[in-house]
Amino acid sequence: MDMAKLSREELKRELSILSKEYEEFRSRGLKLDMSRGKPCTEQLELSVDMLAYPYRDKNYKTASCADVRNYGMTDGLPEAKELFSKLLEVSTSEIILGNNSSLSMMYDAISRAMTFGVYGSPEPWSRLPKVKFLCPSPGYDRHFAITELFNIEMITIEMKEDGPDMDTIEKLAAEDDSIKGIWCIPKYSNPTGVTYSDEVVDRLAAMRTAASDFRIFWDNAYIVHHLTDKPDKLKNILEACKKAGNPDRVFIFASTSKITFPGSGVAMMASSESNINQIKKLLGIRSIGPDKINQLRHVMFFSDPDSIEQHMKKHAAILKPKFEMVLSILDSRLGDRNIAKWSRPNGGYFISLDTLPGCASAVVKMAGEAGVVLTPAGATFPYGKDPQDCNIRIAPTLPPLEELKLAMELLCTCIQIVSARKLLGT
Ligand code: PLP
Repeated sequence: MDMAKLSREELKRELSILSKEYEEFRSRGLKLDMSRGKPCTEQLELSVDMLAYPYRDKNYKTASCADVRNYGMTDGLPEAKELFSKLLEVSTSEIILGNNSSLSMMYDAISRAMTFGVYGSPEPWSRLPKVKFLCPSPGYDRHFAITELFNIEMITIEMKEDGPDMDTIEKLAAEDDSIKGIWCIPKYSNPTGVTYSDEVVDRLAAMRTAASDFRIFWDNAYIVHHLTDKPDKLKNILEACKKAGNPDRVFIFASTSKITFPGSGVAMMASSESNINQIKKLLGIRSIGPDKINQLRHVMFFSDPDSIEQHMKKHAAILKPKFEMVLSILDSRLGDRNIAKWSRPNGGYFISLDTLPGCASAVVKMAGEAGVVLTPAGATFPYGKDPQDCNIRIAPTLPPLEELKLAMELLCTCIQIVSARKLLGT
């Protein structure tokens, strides 16, 4: 039943039924959290056996004869570099392993660019009167928080079915030399679930940029986080950049935060040898080496990329019923109402929902008042401002199924109430 086609009387009747439903939810004193993409306890259990390493075999030296307990190996344990370079489809000279967080590697990359410039920069970015970044949106709030912190002006770019709006990106990047970079989540994007098409990857790699030191921040956080047996395929951007004659254009990031443990995973960064060498020099001053004990633990737990893929199937088995539940509730409660649309991702951690324009903040507020915490409306856009006030990020991974069901029922009730009020003009 298309809500926009209801008469005022019918809408008022609906609203009265929905309001009773809402009050019933409110009286239950719910305390549910769908705000952040965290793995649930069952997922964390999948990797606990890894914690026995390397102590279990009392073997702290690897084939490369490195003692992981000691200082050194600024760019990571060779065996771990081997494993993760295969995962990222780059060579071992094109990767640096960090500590647990890829987000902090991204923060450091921006910080270094501001202070020293990137490889080949005419001058540090902070010396320029203005630095701008392209921000495909909805996107990841923590990316936008980093660029905002460094006073980098953010330009919102529309996300389409196959990646960001490339016509606009190509035009802006070609004409404005203060545009120094772009945030990208190329696979199972946060929050839209979109995987960039080959054409988008090629265009990003080949486009003309007015800034000679333009960088693509390629956050491949969901590289192996499939929810189906037919995973999306993402073209290798480092190869595409090399082929297009822009070998230094991309910084690739990933981590095992949602493969093993957020907080105790291994983060990684890949790029051209020239970029990697410049960064390694600076890293050697910042630290005498990362946590190689944890890197070794990961190598002992995962013998090769295939064992990571197998492990991810166990994650998918836990997550798939949650995503299916969210989608089936959205379909049954809102499917024919013409007041919202949502993504059906093949992987990643989120479902992105768009309400009627001007409704998202009110929906999130209402859900919060009944005990369901959602990501703040607007958070998926630069400066926390969704120009249409319509996007809501749903994070189904953390709550148990029963709680998720309740939270989704409540969310659908809130969306219907706010939409009915909007249609009534009240
Ligand atoms: N990048 C994206 C797109 C994410 O969604 C997240 C976490 O939700 C991260 C990075 C955080 O990565 P890490 O745990 O490696 O810092």
